[in-house]
Amino acid sequence: MTHDETTPRLIRKTFPVGPLQCNCSIIGDLVLKQAIIVDPGGDAQKIMAQVDEMGLKICAIVHTHAHLDHILAAGEIKKATGAPLFLHQGDQFLWDSLEDQCRMFGVPYQAVPGPDEWLHDDQDLNCCGGVTLHTPGHTPGSMSFWFADHQLLIAGDTLFRRSIGRTDFPGGDFKTIMTSIKERLMVLDEEAIVITGHGPATTIGEELRENPFINS
Ligand SMILES: [Zn+2]
Ligand SMILES: [Zn+2]
Repeated sequence: MTHDETTPRLIRKTFPVGPLQCNCSIIGDLVLKQAIIVDPGGDAQKIMAQVDEMGLKICAIVHTHAHLDHILAAGEIKKATGAPLFLHQGDQFLWDSLEDQCRMFGVPYQAVPGPDEWLHDDQDLNCCGGVTLHTPGHTPGSMSFWFADHQLLIAGDTLFRRSIGRTDFPGGDFKTIMTSIKERLMVLDEEAIVITGHGPATTIGEELRENPFINS
């Protein structure tokens, strides 16, 4: 297959979904006409409308971690696309406790099937050159997704604009999240765009300079 290098090959849509407005992303390869969905945290119809508009085949549904607001629509999206669900095994206990999580946050419970495959550190996502980075701390199985060719990081709830993920939920650990951020994320290209789990995007360089948790 030939590919015009001047044509950007990656297409990405990011939009908030679900009760806690988690940023869901669809990242696709325009040449292979395939895409992955990251963090289907709710609003399955909204996600599927975007998928249909992009006209790409969904080959995987990947989760940065298993808090309810990142996985609530996983079952519906799996049903609609036929794609398998991916999660780091460190978050299996959270996935299994979805009903408790929903009760705790007062969110209507919606059953989701179990993950189909475990994600490992430094795993190829088979989409746009993306790889996984295991970045525990917010949860034990928290993952970030790095697309080096496109200078793009999906950080889940590990890193936010001028802030970091909470570590006071079950399995959270402050020292661990700081190590993940400093050793796995802040070593990436400063120009790289960071899509965070909630709220606005940022860049690695901006957070290196302006994030009070990192720059101290
Ligand atoms: Zn979270
Ligand atoms: Zn979240």
